[in-house]
Amino acid sequence: MIVMKFGGTSVEDAPSIERVAEIIRARLDLKPVIVVSAMGKTTRKLLQAAEASAAGESKTTLGIVADLKTRHLSEARRLVKHADGREVFSLVEKHFDELKKLLEGLAVLGEVPPRGLDKILAYGELLSSALLTDALFERGIAARLFDARELIKTDDRYGSASPLFDVTDQRIREAIRPAIDSGVVPVVQGFIGSSRDGATTTLGFEGSDYTATILGAALDAEDIQIWKDVSGLMTADPAIYSRARTVKQCSFAEAAELTHFGAKVLHPKAIHPAAGKNIPVHIYNSRQPEAAGTTITSETVLCSNPIKSIAYKRPVTIIRATANMIADGSRFTSADDLLRALLDILSKRRAQPLITSVSASTVVLALDSRELRHGGRDLIEAISDYGSATAVPDRAIVSLVGDGLRSDPHLLSRAFKAIDEIDIEMIVHGSSPATMSFVVAQADVETVVEKLHDIFFASLDPRVFQ
Ligand code: ASP
Ligand code: MG
Repeated sequence: MIVMKFGGTSVEDAPSIERVAEIIRARLDLKPVIVVSAMGKTTRKLLQAAEASAAGESKTTLGIVADLKTRHLSEARRLVKHADGREVFSLVEKHFDELKKLLEGLAVLGEVPPRGLDKILAYGELLSSALLTDALFERGIAARLFDARELIKTDDRYGSASPLFDVTDQRIREAIRPAIDSGVVPVVQGFIGSSRDGATTTLGFEGSDYTATILGAALDAEDIQIWKDVSGLMTADPAIYSRARTVKQCSFAEAAELTHFGAKVLHPKAIHPAAGKNIPVHIYNSRQPEAAGTTITSETVLCSNPIKSIAYKRPVTIIRATANMIADGSRFTSADDLLRALLDILSKRRAQPLITSVSASTVVLALDSRELRHGGRDLIEAISDYGSATAVPDRAIVSLVGDGLRSDPHLLSRAFKAIDEIDIEMIVHGSSPATMSFVVAQADVETVVEKLHDIFFASLDPRVFQ
């Protein structure tokens, strides 16, 4: 059997869902299990509705909900003409009734508690999965809707819950295997689960990929397919570099580095279940189903290009902290104390530095600026007993990633030559053998990516690139 996950843009309207139905039909003999994200932009709209409601803006809230309902109903009507006995229309009504009540609750509360937000965000996937199931059924494909909250059991860290794998794996096997054996196509919501006491949880934004690999690993799938609106992993982000090419193959290690440093190929957490069971992950384009896409496996695929892709992350803030080196008997701090203090605060917020660099007296952290509060001032204050620190905003990290990087002694000098007129503030190499990262001003990203691409992908190994 295989798992096929369809992202939000792949199910954004009726024609897209029809395309998805045909992609599934063509693979029925592989016994697919379907995981689906919310229809494009729905999750963001639900978040806006929750925030508006808590802020007392009831008109905005009702407007967003009305738009969402109209959209889901009209796409459902285009997809499901023979409504007799089909659930989708009553489910849409039921979900929107509940959603409205929850949003009214937030208006009374005047805030958005994480537990309430997860419950609200879950409607995106509950709706899209209902639409897809009946769209498949209408097209003669025996599909059955499952509730991911019955399958994916998690801890209660709302907003970024972790699966409790023992129960989850068992529940998935018990529910899904018999359905597959009876020739049914199971349809499961991505992104959502539930805690031990039954409260709805979510796995983190873009978390549907994770659902797909959790299911794939539990069911010992032969293949996990992630269907998106781009043709797999690219040599650079096509949104900022138009000549980017498709990377046909990469390793789990490379994919992990790339996602850590900003590439949107796969949710970072999604790699572990697949890699752990050595199940290949394929990235495909639902608008060009015949295109090769990207295959991610445990195999190291070396090629004549030392890197596979260039990733970037921005905005990034650099925190540079220096320890007080005054040994007055009472106080002598080292970079270790600084590091501990900084990581302590960050871990309470579940934030992690993208890059950490430590010397005897100095700690440098590169952080996703969106994870910082007040531009990092609280971090600077928190370590004021140990030393002094500065925060430099509006930076970016550009990373070269490839298993072949470690064996290319000239890589650093080639990279330097390519971007010699750019101000490079920091270079990190060696923390992972497959990655070399540069910290630059965020406005320089386009130039840096272009110049590095010209050097490292001037000629392409046809075994790996297309
Ligand atoms: N719908 C969720 C989100 O937008 C999950 C996903 O798309 O994977 O984050
Ligand atoms: Mg999405």
